[in-house]
Amino acid sequence: MIRISQIKLPVDHDDQALLQAAARELKLPSEKIERLTIQKKSIDARKKPISYVYTVDVKVKGEEKLLKKLHNRNVTRTEKKRYQFPEPGSERLEHRPVIVGTGPAGLFCGLMLARAGYRPILLERGETARKRKETVDRFWNGGSLQSDSNVQFGEGGAGTFSDGKLNTLVKDPAGRGRLVLQTFVEAGAPEEILYWNKPHLGTDVLIGVVEHIRCEIERLGGQVRFCTQLTDLDIRDGQVRGVHIKRTDGAEPEASYLETEVVVLAIGHSARDTFAMLGKKDIPMERKAFAVGVRIEHPQEMINRSQYGEEYPAGLPTAAYKVTRKVSGDRGVYSFCMCPGGYVVNASSEKGGLAVNGMSYQARDGRNANSAMIVTVRPEDFGSDGLLAGVEFQRRLERAAFQTAGGKVPVQLLGDFRQNCMSTGLGEVEPCIKGAWEFGDVRGIFPEELSAALEEGITGCEHLIPGFARADAVLSGVESRTSSPVRIIRGEDQESAIRGLYPCGEGAGYAGGITSAAMDGVKTAEAIAGRYCRNQEIS
Ligand code: FAD
Repeated sequence: MIRISQIKLPVDHDDQALLQAAARELKLPSEKIERLTIQKKSIDARKKPISYVYTVDVKVKGEEKLLKKLHNRNVTRTEKKRYQFPEPGSERLEHRPVIVGTGPAGLFCGLMLARAGYRPILLERGETARKRKETVDRFWNGGSLQSDSNVQFGEGGAGTFSDGKLNTLVKDPAGRGRLVLQTFVEAGAPEEILYWNKPHLGTDVLIGVVEHIRCEIERLGGQVRFCTQLTDLDIRDGQVRGVHIKRTDGAEPEASYLETEVVVLAIGHSARDTFAMLGKKDIPMERKAFAVGVRIEHPQEMINRSQYGEEYPAGLPTAAYKVTRKVSGDRGVYSFCMCPGGYVVNASSEKGGLAVNGMSYQARDGRNANSAMIVTVRPEDFGSDGLLAGVEFQRRLERAAFQTAGGKVPVQLLGDFRQNCMSTGLGEVEPCIKGAWEFGDVRGIFPEELSAALEEGITGCEHLIPGFARADAVLSGVESRTSSPVRIIRGEDQESAIRGLYPCGEGAGYAGGITSAAMDGVKTAEAIAGRYCRNQEIS
């Protein structure tokens, strides 16, 4: 195959234009191109007029000869790399592997093991994606919070109600990232996620995709048990022997104990009770830094203009941004999980506490842009020394957020955050929030050092995006579930010092985001399959 990069085309180009541009680079008539596949598509908004930039792979006859005479550094030879799952290992498994959690990490670990014939059992404390959506909608419409099925917990994990950004910075020589995206496409995601440089899947699409993957695991002999929580691990002589489980919906359990020698902990960053159980069992863990802050909302139109220019052409994707500022006290403030045309969501999972996050639909057509603006906190900020001091720190902020607006999402305008006074009315920016909101003391949620850092960081972004620090920008809080407050330590072989225990994904501290968590799930499945042989007789 021949790869052609840096093909620039106007925003309103048609399908033929790409083929013709590729043919021009090859100095061939377009009919000589037998096949063209887009490998990458991005927007160049730096130079006006704005253009799309493509990398494509093409198949033509006589590639070698053609390349020799072309001398064009944008035209190179490329080999298709294939992802390789390892051959089964030789250790015998007496029982089916158990995977805890059906977020991207657990689902992909489960899918890969199911494809390889290991018939895993997946445990998920929350509901199926459909039921969970009803539960979450009820909560956003004033119903009570279900602490086992919410924006953090349930089929698909934390990413099901999300903006579904799929880009990752993880290096990927083995091709796991491509495998993940390809699997999403097979499960119903649009094919463009394979080539957009910043692909995304809205909540509306993600639910179907996640269900499809679960059905595939079941079709291959795996089992997925919803409303089923891991409550304890049976560890004897440094080896996992089984898991204790309970139903979270009050139903009669099929069993309260499962024997197994392999447990994958893909529990996400919000499984605080499970972290506490692991801590009590002396599973090797350590505290880690994370970040906290606020969601900020601006009119999407303002962001589009800042990124594309005042007179931008129609048909461009809703604009995203990324900002970062160094502030006093040797801290950094940065945007995180930016949702173009999205919604701020009440993403709480504990009664009496309130956390926010962001989501969008596939069309990204909401009137506001929102993003977390967060500041790093280190173990020395947590205010105590225990392993779960980070969790306690998050809890303090979440309780303050809950209390300041009577359990509704607390909102404060940026101007009032600066003045340290309660807001009494909105400016031009109207919040787009899933869940009830009320004016509250967002600044007072944080220790003053962090509020001051957020104020300085947000204000400092004005010169990057005009209007970013406008007084009527809407802040809500608290953004506290940015990454795991602990790491569950594992070795190069993905295994904890406890034999058979595999910490995996974001909660274990080895991923940040949907795609990287899914890739870590794949990597964990490789480690398990590479060690154990398939045993179809096991129960
Ligand atoms: P999780 O997705 O957190 O899954 C863990 C699962 O384990 C949960 O379903 C939980 O119910 C289950 N579980 C926990 N404890 C137990 C137990 N004891 N027994 C049984 N089950 C248990 N990332 C992006 O890349 N792009 C985005 O646009 C994006 N937007 C987001 C928006 C929101 C609102 C949220 C909340 C997160 C967003 N993220 C986004 C982050 C992303 O969702 C996570 O990085 C990712 O889901 C982590 O995957 P995971 O599988 O490691 O854990």
